Amino acid sequence: MQEAGLIRRRLETRETKGYNLCRLRSINYLLIKMIPPKIYGLIGYPVKHSLSPNMHNAAFGALKINAEYRLFPLQEDELKGFFADLKKNNIFGLNVTIPYKEKVITLLNDISPEAKLIGAVNTIRFVQNRLEGFNTDGAGFLQHLTQDIRFIPASKNIAMIGAGGAARAVSVYLSKEKPKSLFIYDVDKSKAGTLVSYLKGHFANIEFRHADSIEELNIEKCDLLINATPIGMKETDVCLVDKEIIHKDLLVYDLIYNPKETKLLKVAEEKGVLISNGLGMLLYQGVLSFEIFTGKPAPIEIMRQALNEAVNKL
Ligand code: NAP
Repeated sequence: MQEAGLIRRRLETRETKGYNLCRLRSINYLLIKMIPPKIYGLIGYPVKHSLSPNMHNAAFGALKINAEYRLFPLQEDELKGFFADLKKNNIFGLNVTIPYKEKVITLLNDISPEAKLIGAVNTIRFVQNRLEGFNTDGAGFLQHLTQDIRFIPASKNIAMIGAGGAARAVSVYLSKEKPKSLFIYDVDKSKAGTLVSYLKGHFANIEFRHADSIEELNIEKCDLLINATPIGMKETDVCLVDKEIIHKDLLVYDLIYNPKETKLLKVAEEKGVLISNGLGMLLYQGVLSFEIFTGKPAPIEIMRQALNEAVNKL
């Protein structure tokens, strides 16, 4: 009798414990649901075609981080007010795209040495009421180029078309790797000239030259050709270089990822050379931003998969 009572009490305790555990779990779940998510996002104009929410939200989900990545299309006169309200809106970090990568600098408390060198910020962290700016574009490009494609820039001849914001980030990071030469062409010749003078002032023992035409880029002697212009995004855009100039030892890297294959990449692929679009750069700049935002290692494969899925739906 006593034994049976003991057994029943033991069972009850076990059941109660199980019940309590269930209740605790659901209370925990409700509490998490009640805590507003930390907000991260992308500012720029326009931003509606961005794939950044896909990769960041997939990463937050995978690491069970109570956070959400949103798009913030902003007009220039809205920037100051937006930054003044970050705390109120529970915003902890931002990515920055065209046309604000340079303009935001004056609104920040600190910027990283890389962002200073590039002269542009694409990632902002908001901690202890301070705004810190970083640039992950150049590092993201280099990580993709060296880790995934396994192209080593040291002692190589490189040609780049375009001398805008992305070109600046990419050329600074390439220059750190000590290529033999880096020639740059831009329709706006003064822009290419300014970028080349800047690079000459910061990096020694590299032959920098601004080309006055695509022909002057000496692509036939190059190991890597980069398109850092928006030419190729539109269906009607032409192929930037003459097909004949593309040779078998050239890697053709187009920063554009939408469309997946620009005319330049199609022509290069027809000639059987190694090609890459800008999706890898987008991934790694996002990975580095995510790590700045959260302080945690990014789930790279989850982010890559989310990007691939999103780009296949475009
Ligand atoms: P940007 O600041 O506008 O620079 C583009 C530069 O290319 C401008 O100086 C432009 O001159 C020049 N250009 C335009 N047409 C040209 C031509 N036919 N030949 C030579 N130069 C020409 O743009 P950005 O921010 O550097 O972006 C450039 C491209 O990279 C965009 O397609 C962007 O989507 C892509 N991107 C990709 C990633 C990624 O993660 N994959 C990241 C950043 C950027 P004008 O201003 O005189 O037209």
